[in-house]
Amino acid sequence: AQLDTLDIVVLAALLLGTVAYFTKGTYWAVYTDPYGSSLANSNGSTKAGKSRNIIEKMEESDKNCVVFYGSQTGTAEDYASRLAKEGHSRFGLKTMVADLEDYDYDNLDKFPDDKLAVFVLATYGEGEPTDNAVEFYEFIGSEDVSFSEGASAEEQPLSNLHYVAFGLGNNTYEHYNSMVRNVDKYLTRLGAKRLGAAGEGDDGAGTMEEDFLAWKEPMWTAVAETMGLEEREAVYEPVFKITERTDMDADEDHVYLGEPNKNHLEGAQKGPYNVNNPFIAPIADSKELFTVKDRNCLHMEINIAGSNLSYTTGDHIAIWPTNAGKEVDRFLSILGLGSKRHTVIEVKGLDATAKVPFPSPTTYDAAIRYHMEICAPVSRQLVSNIAQFAPSEDVKNEMAKLGSDKDYFHEKVIDNNLNLAQLLESLSKGEPWTKVPFSLMIEGLVKIQPRYYSISSSSHVQKDKIAITAVVESLHKPNAPHVLKGVTTNYLLALKQKQHGDPNPDPHGLNYALTGPRNKYDGVHVPVHVRHSNFKLPSDPSKPIIMVGPGTGVAPFRAFVQERAAQAKAGQTVGKTVLFFGCRRKDEDFIYQDEWEQYKEALGENFILHVAFSRDGPKKVYVQHKMEEYAEELDKLLQQKAYFYVCGDAANMAREVNVLLGKIISKQRGIPESKAEEIVKAMRASNQYQEDVW
Ligand code: FAD
Repeated sequence: AQLDTLDIVVLAALLLGTVAYFTKGTYWAVYTDPYGSSLANSNGSTKAGKSRNIIEKMEESDKNCVVFYGSQTGTAEDYASRLAKEGHSRFGLKTMVADLEDYDYDNLDKFPDDKLAVFVLATYGEGEPTDNAVEFYEFIGSEDVSFSEGASAEEQPLSNLHYVAFGLGNNTYEHYNSMVRNVDKYLTRLGAKRLGAAGEGDDGAGTMEEDFLAWKEPMWTAVAETMGLEEREAVYEPVFKITERTDMDADEDHVYLGEPNKNHLEGAQKGPYNVNNPFIAPIADSKELFTVKDRNCLHMEINIAGSNLSYTTGDHIAIWPTNAGKEVDRFLSILGLGSKRHTVIEVKGLDATAKVPFPSPTTYDAAIRYHMEICAPVSRQLVSNIAQFAPSEDVKNEMAKLGSDKDYFHEKVIDNNLNLAQLLESLSKGEPWTKVPFSLMIEGLVKIQPRYYSISSSSHVQKDKIAITAVVESLHKPNAPHVLKGVTTNYLLALKQKQHGDPNPDPHGLNYALTGPRNKYDGVHVPVHVRHSNFKLPSDPSKPIIMVGPGTGVAPFRAFVQERAAQAKAGQTVGKTVLFFGCRRKDEDFIYQDEWEQYKEALGENFILHVAFSRDGPKKVYVQHKMEEYAEELDKLLQQKAYFYVCGDAANMAREVNVLLGKIISKQRGIPESKAEEIVKAMRASNQYQEDVW
């Protein structure tokens, strides 16, 4: 998903420096492997001295097609792996997958014309490249890009390069799919030749997977034609070799039972803590914010003291989830692995270029519980791929139908919110699918992703304690056979219940392994890292601010108001602090109701809270209505250069607020809407308008 707003710039700069430094070296060449298998040093792909020369690498490993990915949340990486596999199985291409960050691009002018480069590129936030694509993007888009042979851009130095491109974006953002659009433009400008059309997937419309599937068929036709490839009967070839080590015991010290990397395995967690290396943080405090029984919203205080992690108000914290035991059991059982769950397995790439997404040796249980996204929506392509391993002919036919019929698949699978194991279970009526190679599961499912939360505390007020405000995802569609339980938020709920010694700690029987691998999370701990963002208060607290944050969108604004209240208490001049908040009912989900009163005491007249209740009256009232109601005040503050902040739902609310702001400005100032829209755009460009949306 195209996740964030403005936070990437600072982060990218920081990360670029770090990554550039580490990856140019030899020893740390694979430092950015998200699962730290470099630290684990557990597979063949982590050799020291790894070359950054892609052409050499392809020659050495006898490849004629490289699939590069620019990925933030793992989806682009997953699509890249799928394309690589398909290119090989259907067309005999000798494919490899490559992280854009792992190579240099100044020799692309020597890319042989009988080889193919595939680019799978996610766009991040406001049109930025993903972290791992920053360097490539800056290089290829540079006005004075220069290649090894010294040819200038006008001389079309890339005229030998054949490529295809697919982008992952979100149409709710202004710079929709700008990564793939721009890279495509830059490559074409440099003379490279694209085969087929550049594809665009839209997460905003929820059609990413279908867009991808629809794009790739004509693309393959174009590739096959240009490269003279014959399509062949696709036979499944595993990417990973799974060896069951019955000679080993899961208790042995070097077996990973869910530890994210070698440091964690060896017992003493060591910083720096980052996206590759979480800090196992104690949860200092937790409480329920809603007063209704059937919905939960958690406030948690996570202690980062002694970790060397730091944050500033407006940053994000990532929570590394653990899958629910109930779903782990279902998954193991439907694959017929229940009795082997604690068998030690060694996972190796069958090809030197295949990266194992978790450290090994491990066990089936640990790999599934801690590393694989087993509860996510099912991919239709995976359904096609699994069909051949069905336990019976009937089930196979049904799977094949689901795989090939988009509408049928939606009706049966997506609309019912099924995850993979639930689907397999229902199709075979519980009969285990023992023929499915475990490698196919590793290939077909995404690595579990840490989830981000907008920090809801001020770093000035509590520098060692990070607060989050998370609504627990629990979705029951009327006729769906299962309640969809959000992976991370239900894990957090179980932790909260444990902390409070709840007599019924797991009301849904989800059965989390709360004490973590080898009890390393015992007490009440959760693995985390911090991500810095650009969503920031003005450095001068006397500047006015306007915040729009319905629901959990209020999270960073609790931090903002907490900070300004503390500043006011300390005698600083604090400007007008206006918050538009929205919820259903005053006595259900009006979160932090008491706290707002306290902040009001500190900030006095300068704190103004407008609350919209959508279900309390005869009419639904949303934050947008409140903005309209207070349009005059709002515009007056904007004219005084108030900072304007929006947080929460990207798909609808944030977009509507953006449009509405233009309308308000137009009406209040008596100027045409087009002019007002330009003002809003300029506010965004100068950071006077900031978004933190998801
Ligand atoms: P997941 O398991 O990830 O499920 C999420 C959703 O995916 C489900 O509700 C459903 O719509 C869909 N889904 C999952 N599985 C299936 C399936 N099998 N079939 C069909 N659909 C499915 N959230 C907050 O509450 N507070 C915050 O302050 C906050 N800040 C954020 C800041 C940023 C920058 C970002 C990117 C996100 C933020 N979020 C916040 C959202 C948060 O990261 C999580 O996405 C959210 O908590 C849900 O996580 P989960 O693991 O519980 O749910």
